[in-house]
This record gives sequence, structure tokens and C-alpha cells, in this order.
Amino acid sequence: MNSALRFSLALVMAALAADALAQPFSLPPLPYAANALEPHLDAQTMQIHHGRHHQAYVNNLNAAVQQDPRLEGMTLEQIQRGISEYGMAVRNNGGGHYNHTLFWSLLAPAGAGGEPSPELLEAITAKFGSLDDFKREFENAALSVFGSGWAWLIRTETGDLAITTTPNQDNPLMDVVSPNGEPLLAIDVWEHAYYLKFQNVRADYVRGWWPIVNWKEVNRRFAGG
Ligand code: MN
Repeated sequence: MNSALRFSLALVMAALAADALAQPFSLPPLPYAANALEPHLDAQTMQIHHGRHHQAYVNNLNAAVQQDPRLEGMTLEQIQRGISEYGMAVRNNGGGHYNHTLFWSLLAPAGAGGEPSPELLEAITAKFGSLDDFKREFENAALSVFGSGWAWLIRTETGDLAITTTPNQDNPLMDVVSPNGEPLLAIDVWEHAYYLKFQNVRADYVRGWWPIVNWKEVNRRFAGG
């Protein structure tokens, strides 16, 4: 595929993901085949995770939004920034929809995701010491989540990079989460993300995850701030 076509496809996928976060909320297509992340993530896990779990968050979010006229016409980002005002169904399913839409975009077939840009690498090195040090700290954060949740690399409101975790489907956009920030990278550590292949061994999933990170999307998010 030539670079112009690849770039056009990237724009189409970004537009589909953005559209999925406006009402009525919808399931964005996976930006690759379900088996494209093998052997790191198997096709069956991806199909169930995307087609059933993520779809359920979308369906439940649309139903919950119908119950609260204040939410009419709002985007998911707007809703989450004021999530303390709304019910738990909106928080859990809205977070589920946002987090998974982001997560699919942050993955790519091994070899296709590129590397951190010089600018991102410089920021990571300044904050964490080296890319490897960052990876170890991010892994440790992911392994520290008790039960279900997420680990994040965010840019905080002061412009600093930070590694954070959230429980359940909470995320750093929500006004109930501290610190707030713009997500740059995220890993889903719910068991549904890895159990079929890795069973209870979250460490194997987390430490084996780096080859399928879509650094091109992380770079784009970092540059966009
Ligand atoms: Mn998940």
C-alpha cells in the first residue's frame, strides 16, 4: 500500500472512531482483521471483546442516555468531563465505549505500529529515564490494578506525562478521576481482554503486549496536544 493511500485510510478510520463517539453511539469497526494481532492477541478474544463486550457497552450507553434528557446531543467526551452529574450506567457504559474505541486504535499488527516519535521519545526519556524504564513502570501499573480496570499514559493538565490507573471503565477524562489528562496510551486489564489465551496470568499479556502497540497513533495524539 502506498503512503498516500495508507494516510487516507488512517483518516477514514479516525473519522469512523470520532463518529462512534457521537449520538447515537455506535460500534466502530476494528481497524484491522480480528486475527491481525496474533500471536499476541488471538482472533477469538478480539471477536468476543469487540463484537460482544464493546457492543454491549454501546447498547447499554444508548439506552442509559435515553433516560436522561440532559444528555441529549452531547458527545461522549463532553459527558465524561461532567460524569459526576450522571448515573452509574452512563459512567460505566460510556467509559466502556470510549475506552474500547481508543484501545482498538492504539493497537496494530506487529511491525506496523512504528516507534515513538523523536518528540515523544524525548518526553518519555525526560520523565521516566528511558523507553525501557517507561515500559517497566507502565507494566507495573497495569499489574497493580486490583480486579478490572485500565492503565494509562496521559498528558496531565499541566502538560506533564504521567502513568495512572483507573478501576472498572473509568478514564482520565472523567471528573471523578484524578489526575485528569488526555490519554495517549491505554491497556485494558479486564480479564476479558486476555483470559482465553493467558488465563489468569496478566503479566504474560502485559509484558507481551508491546509489539502490537500502535505508536503512530500514540505519536499523533501526543503531537495533537
Ligand atoms: Mn475490555
